[in-house]
Amino acid sequence: MLELAGVSAGYGRLVAIRDVSLEVPAGKVATVIGANGAGKTTLLRVISGLIPPRSGRLRLNGQDITGWPPERVVAAGVAHVPERRQLFGSMRVEDNLLLGAYLRLRRERRRAVEEDLERVYELFPRLRERRRQVAATLSGGEQQMLAIGRALMARPQVLLLDEPSLGLAPLLVRELFRVIRRLREEGYTVLLVEQNAHQALRVADVAYVMETGTITLRGSGPELLAKPEVQAAYLGGG
Ligand code: ATP
Repeated sequence: MLELAGVSAGYGRLVAIRDVSLEVPAGKVATVIGANGAGKTTLLRVISGLIPPRSGRLRLNGQDITGWPPERVVAAGVAHVPERRQLFGSMRVEDNLLLGAYLRLRRERRRAVEEDLERVYELFPRLRERRRQVAATLSGGEQQMLAIGRALMARPQVLLLDEPSLGLAPLLVRELFRVIRRLREEGYTVLLVEQNAHQALRVADVAYVMETGTITLRGSGPELLAKPEVQAAYLGGG
């Protein structure tokens, strides 16, 4: 579905990701775990077209999307939920969700968008309760759910999640990962980058470890969870 082959990218003279090859299979959750500064955010920015790759190729459903500008990548079905969520704080919850369907509203019937709104509210009942509230008044966890809900409103082919658990209380982290599990059950394709390695590896069908810009380990989530080197470096034990 989404494939990267030998992708490198950076900022000025800094090479932030180097020769990265990975696959996000259709209908699966793939995760990239790594420490702060490993290059995870850069990776997602390259996939979204926000940073051009210096080398390598990117493919989405077999189509070469290397070097495409962000608006074209979005139109092709990639939805990026950035670390800072980028909600419209002074707008109501429901209007933030409808904005996620903006590209579709121009070509699809309002009915289809309303059905999706209903689906997002089923996934996140709290958002339904708060749909008339302005986004800035939501808690951090609710804002994260809103950012994911807004991305789902675009009916993405691939959902990119940048550290969604960051800054959330443990209870909300568990709720978030329940939602990610549910997205997988519903057949969404997700690329999740996380510092919360334990939860991410438990939910992932395919997992990668990134260290200073390179992929150093790959396997299924459970395989990586069982590796002593992963346990020592990312799971606080051995
Ligand atoms: P974090 O968990 O902090 O988001 P990360 O794994 O996502 O970390 P990146 O944000 O991709 O890592 O950063 C990778 C490297 O690129 C780091 O060395 C970082 O300092 C550098 N970097 C990131 N953004 C920029 C930028 N806009 N300009 C210059 N260097 C940057």
